[in-house]
Amino acid sequence: MPRGSDGATVGFSDNPLPAPLPAPPSPAPHALTLRGRFRLIATALVLIVLVGVGQLVHVEWRRFERSEQARHAVRELRVALVAAEMVSRERGPSNGVLGDMTPGGDPVIADRLVRARARTDEAILAYQALLIDSDLSAWHQQAASDAGELMQALRQARSRIDELAKRPGGERSSAEIRDSIQAMIDLVPRLAPAIMAFADEAQYADPELAQPVWGARLAAELREYAGQLGSMFTPALSRGQPFTASEQASIHRIKGHIEQLRHLLDLRVGDGSAAVRAAEAAMARRYFGNAARLVDEVEQAGRTHGRYGMTPAEFAVRYVPEMDAIVELRNVLLSEAEQRSIEAQAQSRQSLAWMAVLTALLLVLVLFMLRVIGQRIVLPLTQAAQALHAMRRGDPGPSLPAPGTNDEIAEVIGGIEALREHNRVRADLERERDKLIQTLREQSCTDFLTRLPNRRAFFEAAEAEMARARRHGFGVLLLLMDVDHFKRVNDTHGHTAGDMALVAVATVLQRVMRQGDLVGRLGGEEFVALLSHCSDDAGTAFAERLREAIQAEAIDVGGDQPALHLTVSIGLAGSMENGHELEVMMAQADKAMYRAKHGGRNRTEWAREAA
Ligand code: GH3
Ligand code: MG
Ligand code: MG
Repeated sequence: MPRGSDGATVGFSDNPLPAPLPAPPSPAPHALTLRGRFRLIATALVLIVLVGVGQLVHVEWRRFERSEQARHAVRELRVALVAAEMVSRERGPSNGVLGDMTPGGDPVIADRLVRARARTDEAILAYQALLIDSDLSAWHQQAASDAGELMQALRQARSRIDELAKRPGGERSSAEIRDSIQAMIDLVPRLAPAIMAFADEAQYADPELAQPVWGARLAAELREYAGQLGSMFTPALSRGQPFTASEQASIHRIKGHIEQLRHLLDLRVGDGSAAVRAAEAAMARRYFGNAARLVDEVEQAGRTHGRYGMTPAEFAVRYVPEMDAIVELRNVLLSEAEQRSIEAQAQSRQSLAWMAVLTALLLVLVLFMLRVIGQRIVLPLTQAAQALHAMRRGDPGPSLPAPGTNDEIAEVIGGIEALREHNRVRADLERERDKLIQTLREQSCTDFLTRLPNRRAFFEAAEAEMARARRHGFGVLLLLMDVDHFKRVNDTHGHTAGDMALVAVATVLQRVMRQGDLVGRLGGEEFVALLSHCSDDAGTAFAERLREAIQAEAIDVGGDQPALHLTVSIGLAGSMENGHELEVMMAQADKAMYRAKHGGRNRTEWAREAA
């Protein structure tokens, strides 16, 4: 029998199917899976989006807060400027009362002062209330305490004016009038630090407010100097005499301030809105036109003859209303600043709302994208990888969920499913093949009639046992057995009966033989046995026991035929004297068996007895 190099029987060991895939290197235990990586990247992405958007929201929120701060500062500035304006305006009626020469005082003039004072009180109270409402920052506290001191100083200045006004007109000296008016003038600068701080705050919170805020501040200052200029004329107008040298110097100085402020204001608001330009034009026409002409007229008289032709009150009636144009410009500028800060705040609020909407959309989009990638790519790939891994282990694993769309991933899943089906078919084929091989192997080794090992199987096993015997040096006996006159059985009872008789002989042989001994059918009615670790005497005893058992067996051959009794002739050969060679032992046993035949059959013969 030809053999393959690996010892397997050629013809049955050839594998017609491809070998299974080699096991791939399994990933290191700490290696990050695609899913793990995806989760990491997804988390990082969401965090980056959140941080980025959070930063933008923070910036926008700061802008919103600043616009709120700017709006608040402009409101405070307006109230402070109005308070300063009212203090300043009070000087007009105060001048009027001091210049009033009517015995007992003109009630109209006195009433004007009372109303002016009420307006001032109201404005300062509003200013103080605003400071109390504001946050308790250090400078707000300072401003509140300054406002308290202003109120006190105002009361003192007023009582000084009232005392002076009580005297008859002729008894009020120019110096006294000037000083008491100066005390009123000195009140206004007390508000300057707070006004400056509000303007600064507004400009800091929103740099775009610089132009209207500073314009308003300059206009307020201009109004103040314009008021001071008017006040300058009161003593001279009351006296009906020319200006003193010091009055002239003061008038000159104040006019210088006014010119300077007008110039600065032009620079600040020159390119302002239409409303600002209109207010500026009105100021140019009224204050720098009408009021300036009145001032020139009074100055002319003051520098020469001192005959003014008007009382301080008459001068105030003509002069003061024209100053309102300056206040009007200030108000327009403040309104503009307020409007801008309101618009900026609305814009910020809108930006925040947009940002919230866009952030939500962005997050939804990112999460949706991550979900799609996770569900459509990462999860199917992970499942595909698990399925492939299971397949490599030879385990079909759970089937993959059908992909929802007909895309590349669906192709991969389809491919894996096809591979799994292919593997299943292959495994079925392999099982069938193995079964077939097993059957063929059994068939090729087994005698189909008696189910004993056939000649080839016996010799394979016997050769292996002989090799063991040679290696370990133990003795082996070969027993050859042939049924006597078997031809007659066939002839007399038929071939089928002969087959049944052969099966019966094989059954007895199997029953009698020792465990571990090898038996086989050599062909025809010849049987063989290899007895290991068996002495000659034990061999003889075994052969005799076998021979007698067969002889004693009543063999049923079916039908109504009587039971058969058969005998056998046995030849024995030992391994020791035959060099542990199976073929030699076979030949020797054969000879011995024929000797038994010739010796009368139904007997056992030893090979060596023939030698
Ligand atoms: P001897 O005592 O000399 O052995 O005489 P014999 O008749 O047994 O010897 P021989 O060799 O002349 O005849 C053997 C017969 O065995 C011939 C053949 O028809 C028969 N035989 C061989 N194989 C089978 C088989 O499988 N079934 C049946 N029924 N008969 C078989
Ligand atoms: Mg024979
Ligand atoms: Mg025979």
